[in-house]
Amino acid sequence: METYNYKKSQEMFARAVKVIPSGIYGHLGPAEGCFIPVQAYPFYVDRAEGAYMWDIDGNRFIDYMCAYGPNVLGYNHLEVDRAAMEQLQRGNSTTLASPVMVELAELLVDTVDSADWAFFAKNGGDVTNLAMLSARAATGRSVVVKFIGGYHGVMPWMQELGYPGIIPEDVENVVTLPFNRADLFATLVANNPDRIAGVIGTPYHHPAMHDNELPVPGFWQDIRRICTENGIVLIVDDVRAGFRLNTRGSDFHYGFKADLICFCKALANGYNISALCGIESLKSAVSSVFNTGSYWLSAMPMAAAVKTISILREIDGATLMKKMGTRLTDGLVEIADEHGFHLKVTGEPAMWFMRLTDDDSGIIHQEWIAECVRRGAFLTNHHNLFINCAMSDEDIDLTFDIAHEAFTAVRRNHPEMFN
Ligand code: PMP
Repeated sequence: METYNYKKSQEMFARAVKVIPSGIYGHLGPAEGCFIPVQAYPFYVDRAEGAYMWDIDGNRFIDYMCAYGPNVLGYNHLEVDRAAMEQLQRGNSTTLASPVMVELAELLVDTVDSADWAFFAKNGGDVTNLAMLSARAATGRSVVVKFIGGYHGVMPWMQELGYPGIIPEDVENVVTLPFNRADLFATLVANNPDRIAGVIGTPYHHPAMHDNELPVPGFWQDIRRICTENGIVLIVDDVRAGFRLNTRGSDFHYGFKADLICFCKALANGYNISALCGIESLKSAVSSVFNTGSYWLSAMPMAAAVKTISILREIDGATLMKKMGTRLTDGLVEIADEHGFHLKVTGEPAMWFMRLTDDDSGIIHQEWIAECVRRGAFLTNHHNLFINCAMSDEDIDLTFDIAHEAFTAVRRNHPEMFN
């Protein structure tokens, strides 16, 4: 297998840094995207289809980042794109709302267990923020509880003190607790009667840079009970895991019921839309919050979302992705073992996190990932990875071949490890 070079990507990036802050900002950029070592990664895509993308140097990758989640059915999915294009031709951003918005809300209410209504925006952070504002509006209280390492977006209250631009007042009503510690939540609630508006958490803990954690039995059920007993709004941030674990919602998947649930990434197979869903008693609180955006009612992404959710239901996408993810991760663990390495896999198979545990520094893991990327399996070191429904057994077999070669290369570069 030949290893890739990224001459055109690097030239384009050199042009970009002159005219764009950071060149590529945010999670697709080399800094925040943690593309380490940076030389192993391309920066610009030429085209994408199914489970694959091609960079501007012509290298092909099986893409296990799936655009950080939106690619759930496969890039450029014909039926989703056709539905979106038909709506585009009828009208997209117009002065009046489109009936497809009602169709999508009805579909979500029919699909998602805890949804009695749906409200649409663009990004995940729009709806996690709206959920927090709604919890405050509903309860008349100030404090929001979140879990250490949980990511909910970039609004000031979601950031940490010390981050550029964040002032103490932004975070003074935010309390963070460790995930899976319902006992600490119980103590906090007991010590702060009538102060806590809501608690927000991802359905399982998938922080960057750390092994992921499934909820321990009883965790969410205890949080649910404490919230109900104390009038606290339970918000599930299903922006990343939503529709990958269960089309009925990840709260349903783990056997509890959210008051508010936030969706985004897999909702429309890459078209720009997010949704806040919730229970009937919170509908008027959501209505009362002052919140909108220029493109929040655009019709094209709504048509794409109707098609995406319908297909995910039809093909039972969650079961398919679990099966593929299990085959892939079991295989990678075995291959690591064959080459004398130890690969630790955590999280859910459709959205797994993996880490070679052979050195504490993480360098060996980074080197192995880099060798995989240079051979056409796009992985990152620091973030959970994603399965999509377009991935086939042949794609997984190809990934196994790449993994074998990558381990061989790392072994060759580190003879000291195997003396
Ligand atoms: N919540 C979770 C769990 C996320 O993974 C993300 C995005 N990575 C967000 C919220 C924020 O979504 P967005 O970047 O679309 O605002």
